[in-house]
Amino acid sequence: MFKKILVANRGEIAMRIIRACRELDIATVAIYSEADSTGIYVKKADEAYLVGPGAVQGFLDGEQIVNLARRVGADAIHPGYGFLAENAQFAHLCQISGIIFIGPSSQAIRLLGNKVKARELAKQVDVPIVPGTDGSVSGMEDALAFCRQAGYPVMIKTCAGGGGRGLRVVRSDQDLWDSMESSSREALSAFGDGSLFLEQYIERPHHIEFQILADRHGNVIHLGERDCSIQRRHQKLIEIAPSLILTPRLRAEMAEAAIAIARAVHYDNAGTVEFLLDQQGQYYFIEMNPRIQVEHTVTEQITAIDLVRSQISIAAGLPVEVSQDEVTLQGHAIQCRINAEDPRNNFAPATGTITAYLSPGGIGVRIDGAVYKDYIVPSFYDALLAKLTVRGRTWDEAVSRMHRSLEEFVLRGVKTTIPFMRKIMTEPDFRAGRFDTSYLETHPEVFKYDDDVEPEDLVLAISAAIAAYEGL
Ligand code: ADP
Ligand code: ADP
Ligand code: MG
Repeated sequence: MFKKILVANRGEIAMRIIRACRELDIATVAIYSEADSTGIYVKKADEAYLVGPGAVQGFLDGEQIVNLARRVGADAIHPGYGFLAENAQFAHLCQISGIIFIGPSSQAIRLLGNKVKARELAKQVDVPIVPGTDGSVSGMEDALAFCRQAGYPVMIKTCAGGGGRGLRVVRSDQDLWDSMESSSREALSAFGDGSLFLEQYIERPHHIEFQILADRHGNVIHLGERDCSIQRRHQKLIEIAPSLILTPRLRAEMAEAAIAIARAVHYDNAGTVEFLLDQQGQYYFIEMNPRIQVEHTVTEQITAIDLVRSQISIAAGLPVEVSQDEVTLQGHAIQCRINAEDPRNNFAPATGTITAYLSPGGIGVRIDGAVYKDYIVPSFYDALLAKLTVRGRTWDEAVSRMHRSLEEFVLRGVKTTIPFMRKIMTEPDFRAGRFDTSYLETHPEVFKYDDDVEPEDLVLAISAAIAAYEGL
């Protein structure tokens, strides 16, 4: 087993990795920017080093990070998600520098990093893909030809894509050109690759993804699925496990498809195979993410399998600890992303100082947090402050537990998604498990929530009421 791991990330996922290392008795090395020097993970790691320049560049400078790992005697690097997690060149650099990259091989990352190649691979192993262009589109004629044949709406996607970037729904010839241009521009600046492809737009699908664990001994297992249909701008907000709509037969079939794809790329480590499931019950592969995902917590809560611990032991060359038969799904889990953003203002990111923080607790409640009172939320990173995950014996219990936990959660000083999430937990369709990727568009009422009332305001209101009463 490793003696020391460098955590090439920040925020809640850095904390998550440090926790797994503590339990495995592995020392940890954190990296941080000046903007992030007050992060909890910096304090919790055994060693921490300032990397620059700027707030983001240091987390992306693979060479600097590998050199640091060698200098401080780390045997492995965990990339978390985002930053270098899906960078094949970085995985390769680790490999040739004698540092273990905690993730799949650079070849698997390279192949899966290109959605067009991943689609071809899925096709080869007979996994259904969304009808779309064969390969990337080279120009307007190509694109128009596909739209004529498939019919609108279509979805523009970026070959190198991720994090919802560059996705555009197009409903007419007139929109096609502008959307392709803006999508390509966005992809070029985000991924350094502006190439695009087109898919038929599936109306109101469910986003269903399977968690895979694979090792270097040929074992590939799945840990069931997550439904991540509640999204904004094609980015996930609430994730659940298991899905409320899969039949055991469909679950088995989709799991088999997910495993076939993992096997086809000789995948090892933890990964996620994403599908869309349409209203008719047909599923389509969309992509495989070769990394730990934000929403891995819901799978952990219903399987009791520690995915980050598994990533580390697989990277150390050990076989997956459990067999497929030993994986059981128990109860229902829900994760809410507690973001520093304002849902009512188009989810605009919020920054500021956290003036009060008290996390919820009690039975079935899990917090993966990264903030505390007086922490200043930097503006340079994604808006995730904490992940609140609950588990219940039944779906109904899980929803009530999430609602209760969101009520307990005190996080003040910046706008967060807490009051919005609380409203969703009381919305009848959500409570009944009726939701797909159109949920937020089709339920505008969830944006009409009461803002959190500051306790000070409450005290003032009560004293005013008492004064008024006594004055009578
Ligand atoms: P990313 O790499 O940005 O995560 P994905 O391909 O995984 O992109 O898609 C993200 C989300 O966009 C999906 O969960 C789904 O809501 C929506 N989406 C993607 N492809 C389609 C499609 N063909 N039809 C309808 N919605 C889609
Ligand atoms: P998940 O699939 O785990 O839900 P998200 O889409 O929420 O992940 O992305 C998690 C983080 O990783 C975000 O900061 C996102 O911008 C980043 N990210 C996702 N895909 C990529 C990618 N292909 N390249 C770089 N960063 C990415
Ligand atoms: Mg995706």
